[in-house]
Amino acid sequence: MNPTLVQGAYIVAGLLFILALNGLSKHESARMGNRYGIAGMAIALTVTVVAAVMGTTDGGPSSGGSGLSGLALILPAMAIAAVIGITLARRVEMTGMPELIAMLHSFVGLAAVLVGWNSSYEKHVAYPTIHDVEVFVGVFIGAVTLTGSVVAYLKLSAKIRSSPLALPAHNALNLFLLAAMAVMTVVYCLTSQDADLTRLLLLAGVTLLALFLGWHLVVSIGGGDMPVVVSMLNSYSGWAAAAAGFLLSNDLLIITGALVGSSGAYLSYIMCTAMNRSFLSVIAGGFGVEAGSAADEGDYGEHREITADDAAGLLADASSVIITPGYGMATAQAQHAVAELTKTLRARDINVRFGIHPVAGRLPGHMNVLLAEAKVPYDVVLEMDEINEDFPATDVVLVIGANDTVNPAAIDQPGSPIAGMPVLQVWEARDVIVFKRSMATGYAGVQNPLFFKDNTRMLFGDAKLRVEEILKAL
Ligand code: NDP
Repeated sequence: MNPTLVQGAYIVAGLLFILALNGLSKHESARMGNRYGIAGMAIALTVTVVAAVMGTTDGGPSSGGSGLSGLALILPAMAIAAVIGITLARRVEMTGMPELIAMLHSFVGLAAVLVGWNSSYEKHVAYPTIHDVEVFVGVFIGAVTLTGSVVAYLKLSAKIRSSPLALPAHNALNLFLLAAMAVMTVVYCLTSQDADLTRLLLLAGVTLLALFLGWHLVVSIGGGDMPVVVSMLNSYSGWAAAAAGFLLSNDLLIITGALVGSSGAYLSYIMCTAMNRSFLSVIAGGFGVEAGSAADEGDYGEHREITADDAAGLLADASSVIITPGYGMATAQAQHAVAELTKTLRARDINVRFGIHPVAGRLPGHMNVLLAEAKVPYDVVLEMDEINEDFPATDVVLVIGANDTVNPAAIDQPGSPIAGMPVLQVWEARDVIVFKRSMATGYAGVQNPLFFKDNTRMLFGDAKLRVEEILKAL
C-alpha cells in the first residue's frame, strides 16, 4: 500500500481523535465527539490491517506485508475481540462502568508488555540502544498499568478492601523500584545483543519489578482518592500504547497513545484540584494515607426521618430546589424518575437545578452521563463551583444517593480521610432531604455529620422507589 496514503489516513484519524476529545469535553457536543472517535478508529483499523496485509513500500516493519496468512490471523482475532467487546458493552450496567474501564486499561498494559517482549527478540535493528530503551520503557509502563488497573478493578468492584495498604517506607520503596528500573535499563543497553540469557533475565526482572510497582502504587491509595487513580491509569494506558507504537514503528499508535496519555494526565490534574490533592503525590502513589485513616465514630445525636408524602409537601411549597445526585442514584437507576420529578416541579414554576460534584459516582462525569441519558436539560446541571454559593438561598436540597460528596467532615475534621476535599455545602439550605437505604457510610467509609443536622431529614429506601412515591404524592 502506498505509504503516503497510509500516512495521510493516519493524519485524518489523528485529527478525528483530537476532535473527539474536544467534543467529549462538553455535554452538548459529547455525542458528536463519540462519532468522531468511532470514525477515526474505523479508519485507523482499516488502514493498519490493509497495510499489514499488502505491505507498504517505505521500508518500515510492515514493508513486506504479511499477506493472506496475516489476514487469516488478524480477522478471526478481531472478530473474537469484537464479539467480546459488544457482549461486555451490552451487559454492563452504568454502575459497572468504572470497573470495566479499569479492566480495559489493564488490557492495554498487557498488550504493551507483550509487544515489548516480542520486540526484544528482534535482532540487527538500525539503532540498538534506542530500541533497547523502547523495549524497557514499553514493558515497564505496560506492566505498571497492568497490575495497577487490576487492583483498581478489584477495589472498584469491592472485591478487595478500598482502604489504603501502607507498607513501611512506601515512598522510599517506590523510589528504589524506579532507580532499579533505570539501572537495569542501562545494563540492558550495554549488554551485547548476543548475550541472550542475560538480556532475558534483565527483561524478566524489570517486568516483575514493574508488576510489583503497579500493584503497590494503587493498593496504597485510599478509597476516597480512587477517582484520581482511575484517570491516572487512563493516562498510563495511553503512554503504554504510545510506547508500543514506537516499538511497532506505528505513528498513529504513538499519536493516539500520546493523546490518551496527556488527556488522562490533564483529567488527573482536574480531579486532584477538585479533591484538593497534590498532583505530584498522586503520580508517586500512596497519597491519601497521610490525610488520616481513622473513620470518625463521634456521637452526632439522633437523625430524623421524613416520609415521601411529607417530602412532597416540602417540595410543593418550595420556590427553589437543588438536587445533588451521587453513586446511589446510579445504583438505584433513579435518573429517569429524578428527571420526571424535575419536569413536574419546573412545571409548577419551581426553580430546580442540579449540583454535580466532580467525583460523584464512580467515574469522572458519571452523574452527567446519567442525567443526559434521562434527558435532563443541560442548562440546569451545574458544577459544584457554579452552585456552591447558592445553597443558603435554597429552600430544599434533595441529596439523592450522595454521601462523601456532601460530607461536612471534609471541612470540619482535619483528621478525616476526606479532609480538604471540597464538598457541596448542602447543609446551608433551609431543608435537606437525604435519600439512602440505611445509615451506612459512603465509599470513603466515613460517617457523615450532615445526617444529624437539625435541618436534615432522612428518607430511607431505594432512591428510585422513593422519588416515584414523591411524584405520585405531587
Ligand atoms: P458515596 O459512594 O459516598 O455514597 C453513595 C450513597 O448512596 C451511599 O451512602 C449509599 O447508602 C447510597 N445508596 C446506594 N444505593 C442506593 C439506593 N439504591 N438507593 C438510595 N441510596 C443508595 O457517593 P458519592 O457519589 O457522594 O461519592 C463518590 C465517592 O466515590 C467518593 O468518595 C469518590 O471519591 C469515590 N470514587 C469516585 C470515583 C469517580 O471517578 N467519580 C471513582 C472511584 C471512587 P446506603 O447504602 O445506606 O443506601
